[in-house]
Amino acid sequence: MRPILSATGTYNYKLAKWLDEKLKPLSVYEHTVNDIFRAFENDWFNREHDLNITKFDLIELLRIATKNQLFQFEGNLYEQVDGVAMGSPLGPLMANAFMCKIEKQLETENKLPTFYKRYSHPSINFTMELEENGKLPFLGMNVIRNGCRVDTTVYRKPTDTGLLLHYHSHVDARYKRSLLNTMLNRAFKLSSTWKFFHEECERLKEIFSRLRYPDDLVQSTIRQFIESKINADISPVYTSRKIKDEIKVKEDKPPLVSQQCVVYSFQCSLCDAGYVGYTCRHLHQRIEEHKGSAIGNHLREQHDMEPEDIAQSFRILRKCQNKFDCLIFEMFFIQELKPTLNKQCDSIRAKLFV
Ligand SMILES: [Zn+2]
Repeated sequence: MRPILSATGTYNYKLAKWLDEKLKPLSVYEHTVNDIFRAFENDWFNREHDLNITKFDLIELLRIATKNQLFQFEGNLYEQVDGVAMGSPLGPLMANAFMCKIEKQLETENKLPTFYKRYSHPSINFTMELEENGKLPFLGMNVIRNGCRVDTTVYRKPTDTGLLLHYHSHVDARYKRSLLNTMLNRAFKLSSTWKFFHEECERLKEIFSRLRYPDDLVQSTIRQFIESKINADISPVYTSRKIKDEIKVKEDKPPLVSQQCVVYSFQCSLCDAGYVGYTCRHLHQRIEEHKGSAIGNHLREQHDMEPEDIAQSFRILRKCQNKFDCLIFEMFFIQELKPTLNKQCDSIRAKLFV
């Protein structure tokens, strides 16, 4: 076990810092330090820093600065006996020097593989994990085998308790909002489909609800996050305001189209063309607008007909609770149905998942 310590303020911290600054220039050599004790080639160390230290003394100083780190835990005093003290400013430099020594040796013996990445030490154990039911956790992700493609979702360790910054913690509100955004960003980046993202958002809602975050704060943060991701391509649906203005809204509304917050589809009655969208207003308003959108253009250009009674070509795919759900399910249905008239928006959205 390796304790994670803050070495700031310890008796050897300043020495370590001082040594690190003095030796750091050596680490710009290729991308690693080759050998800290190159420091004494041509008396580089003393000339560079205007000092007069023997190689033996430098080794002794490095030893004092990095070994025998003392720390307290529950009132008891402990000493770290193995490895460079955690939290020492010299840690990275020493680790580098240590690895370089091995690499140099391998290189000399012509044993360095063509493809070589660093990560080896006798006390590091490697384990191999096999997929279970087509799933394999990897770096906080659940990698799911799905035919010839690979999907990813957020992975939670079985030991994860969902314990995060509590809403009633005495910290500034912006940290709470920022935590929400961090978790959403993680969900967004690790979910390969909108469906998985939506599922993860649902889990986050539960987690943050347990941490007493107000529901409307969670909802509004999620909504803003989604909108910031797709804002750019929501608007192309509205085209030619002039045409829209010329169309009169019918007074008698069929029950289907008077619903609010719905994801809907349009299916051309003459060909395969389709469209998926959402609205949080009355659907009939939206249908009127579509007479001047890609749908209206399609009917005019492909079938040489005016988009008059198009309401019967619309179908509600899902009634949603709020705009957030609409956004998610719209994406979901676009991915599932691949409607041709959405193509442009769809590809922009798909790019969000690169
Ligand atoms: Zn058509």
